Amino acid sequence: MDPKDEQKLAGQKVVVDQSKCIGCGLCASTCSDVFELDESGKSKVKDDADCEKAGCCQEAVDNCPAKAISWSKQD
Ligand code: SF4
Repeated sequence: MDPKDEQKLAGQKVVVDQSKCIGCGLCASTCSDVFELDESGKSKVKDDADCEKAGCCQEAVDNCPAKAISWSKQD
């Protein structure tokens, strides 16, 4: 991974805006360590999600057809 990307990932996590999510499942299939569909059929970020380790979060952000996934500063 590009060092700049690693810097970007450090201290950040992804969030899903469920009001935008259309439940297509793309994020859960491209990045199954981080995303899963919940009981309402919308994507959610797993509690133990680790984007630095998974390395697929940016791809999920870029490919979401509803632009429902974004980066957020970690608390
Ligand atoms: S890729 Fe986007 S629209 Fe599709 S399930 Fe994931 S968050 Fe929802």
